[in-house]
Amino acid sequence: ALEAHSISAWFGDHKVLDRVSLSMPARMVTALIGPSGCGKSTFLRILNRMHELIPSASLAGEVWLDGQDIYDPNVKVTDARKKIGMVFQKPNPFPAMSIYDNVLAGLKLTGMRVSRGAKDALVEECLSKAGLWREVRERLRSPGGALSGGQQQRLCIARSLAVRPQVLLMDEPCSALDPTSTRRIEETIGELAHEVTIVIVTHNMQQAARVSQQCAFFLAEQGTPGHIVEHGPTDQMFNEPIDPRTADYVNGRF
Ligand code: ATP
Ligand code: MG
Repeated sequence: ALEAHSISAWFGDHKVLDRVSLSMPARMVTALIGPSGCGKSTFLRILNRMHELIPSASLAGEVWLDGQDIYDPNVKVTDARKKIGMVFQKPNPFPAMSIYDNVLAGLKLTGMRVSRGAKDALVEECLSKAGLWREVRERLRSPGGALSGGQQQRLCIARSLAVRPQVLLMDEPCSALDPTSTRRIEETIGELAHEVTIVIVTHNMQQAARVSQQCAFFLAEQGTPGHIVEHGPTDQMFNEPIDPRTADYVNGRF
């Protein structure tokens, strides 16, 4: 499991998260929901140490993956990010790089070596898992930028899988996509969840209900830092939430 223990976060002296704790079990999809500005993306970046790339950012608390503190000074940041991959709202393949090389691009960045003979198999495996193989197998040398938006997002998923992460963080991965592409990504998430722990931020309540088994509702009320109001099994969060604010939010009354 991926576990956040009492995470607080600041940009300068502006506190944006207050003691957020959440356990994200292995092979489960956890959806992070809540209004704009409540700190969902900030929380996601803390989970794979991207928060520290922002100069004004600081944090308190701990993140553990399978019993290891990913902020331990002995853990290399590249190793943490290799274990915990991320996919963003806007598909960001390297546009001029071939589809083939895009899939392998993360290996170099994290210093992983793959023999020449193993590359073809890895590219096929990752594109298949991302639900893109059949569409691109005949044109692996075409540039990533030549694909449709939905295909580019699946290419980004394939790229994140190449380093064999244990966790995949997805920040509104479908909000730039049409409904058909969105469905394709949701199917892919369902398949991937058999082998990777997935944490997805979404503003789409139907999507949260369709893809996740666990939901956490974030809120930042009247300028207070973001915190989790309630979390639990998705079914319970949607059908019998404990907090009236959760009921209001999942029913679109916010
Ligand atoms: P959205 O649903 O709109 O994506 P969010 O829940 O992901 O919102 P965050 O992007 O995490 O929210 O932002 C949380 C708070 O932190 C906001 O008040 C935002 O203005 C602030 N914030 C985010 N990134 C930075 C940054 N790089 N520098 C300063 N403040 C930031
Ligand atoms: Mg966000």
